[in-house]
Amino acid sequence: MFNPATGQVQAQVDLASVAEVNEAVASAYKASKEWSESSLTQRTQIMFRFREILSDRTEELARVISNEHGKVVSDAAGEVARGLENVEFACGIAHHLKGEINEQVSAGIEVYSLRQPLGVVAGITPFNFPAMVPAWMFATAIACGNTFICKPSERDPSASMLIAEWFIEAGLPPGVFSVVNGDKEAVDALIDHEEVAAISFVGSTPIASYVYERATSAGKRVQALGGAKNHMLVLPDADIEMAADAAVSAAYGSAGERCMAVSALVAVGSAADELVAAISKRIPGVKVGVGTEPDAEMGPLITAEHRDRVAGYVERAQQAGATAVVDGSKADLPTDGFFYGPTLLDGVTADMECYRDEIFGPVLSVVRVETFQEAMDLINSNPFGNGTAIFTRDGGAARQFQHEVQVGMVGINVPIPVPVAYHSFGGWKASLFGDTHMYGPEGVRFYTRAKAITARWPDPASSQIDLGFPQNS
Ligand code: NAD
Repeated sequence: MFNPATGQVQAQVDLASVAEVNEAVASAYKASKEWSESSLTQRTQIMFRFREILSDRTEELARVISNEHGKVVSDAAGEVARGLENVEFACGIAHHLKGEINEQVSAGIEVYSLRQPLGVVAGITPFNFPAMVPAWMFATAIACGNTFICKPSERDPSASMLIAEWFIEAGLPPGVFSVVNGDKEAVDALIDHEEVAAISFVGSTPIASYVYERATSAGKRVQALGGAKNHMLVLPDADIEMAADAAVSAAYGSAGERCMAVSALVAVGSAADELVAAISKRIPGVKVGVGTEPDAEMGPLITAEHRDRVAGYVERAQQAGATAVVDGSKADLPTDGFFYGPTLLDGVTADMECYRDEIFGPVLSVVRVETFQEAMDLINSNPFGNGTAIFTRDGGAARQFQHEVQVGMVGINVPIPVPVAYHSFGGWKASLFGDTHMYGPEGVRFYTRAKAITARWPDPASSQIDLGFPQNS
């Protein structure tokens, strides 16, 4: 495992064998018997204590993340804050687990529905949000009465290890939250284990699709969130300075290694020239540096291999006819580590590789179109559907965009529309495999199953045999 800002190996991770995964599942399974019977009061109190610890130690966790992931500390603290929102949602779990009841559905009969935990559930998470994405899963899963096994990315697992320690400090019983480090072998072992009832996955589309198929074939409940290609549509009536600020923030924040990063800027008509000028004017002001330096705004990429992959995309884009208005390979960057500068490509077309693929780096591609409809058709024909945004002053256009766009999360003058914890997060099309989005109300549904009860308390004296199918009257 590297520190991406220095390029030095800073720690080693042991990858779990199948036997070690089985041991973790056995301990989670054992713990699930008691945890599923714990009272809502007990679960809520532990979650509140954990919330306090996480909130008090945000800076500590942010520094750990910055050293392993490379993102700047302020950005890492932002990730922890968004994860904390999920913990706060889970503090109110009693409200979300209220069942429903109908009195007197038939003479003297009540019907009510409950939601009960599944047992052992597992979460497999990506490198780019080592604290927030696990929190999308574990907060709700545990509060609903499940035990949770986290399989973090092998590139930055320390955040989840620290979270495990803090859960113990908050009073969570052993086995309720565990971390298994590993690669494909550990993931397959979790998926195949018969005591694991559900799998939550966040990562790239090919692996999301693989996990979804393998886990559903094994009879599990699965939500598998994949990659993205997020478009920001700018109409000529938009405030161009505001749109340029938003594009720079959303394209280059966290070096573009966000599943909600804007990577395609769809500029309609006269917006294009003004935007390209406004963005290229801003790029030299983006402070690229080591994440722990106080004034750094953008850190390095996760590995040298990934940096070279991003550079390859930029080179081939130019060979294909795009113009590098700003070329990140020519930026003045720290010499150690895996840095690549913010890059702006103009004249990108839908057939180019740099448009089709998720580059996952600080590369913004400008696609010029003539009309709003052309922009809509472009976005809707893209195989991904994670996030998108429109920048305009025209309420009618924004309403049409929100209604017709084939994307799961939509921003109106908001470049990174990650929903708050009491809504749910998820894309459409190749960005999500499964039926439920993550966290919020859909998270509660995912981590619980419904039970419907029909009850009556008749006078035994009125009892009689009736072989007909029960009817209500
Ligand atoms: P990744 O798919 O390489 O890895 C994700 C997880 O899967 C890791 O824990 C990894 O160990 C495991 N894994 C990797 N290869 C595997 C295999 N062959 N079999 C089984 N498990 C395997 O993703 P990453 O590079 O860590 O993260 C970046 C990707 O995640 C990007 O595509 C990004 O868009 C996506 N992402 C999506 C969302 C979302 O909400 N849709 C959020 C964050 C990241």
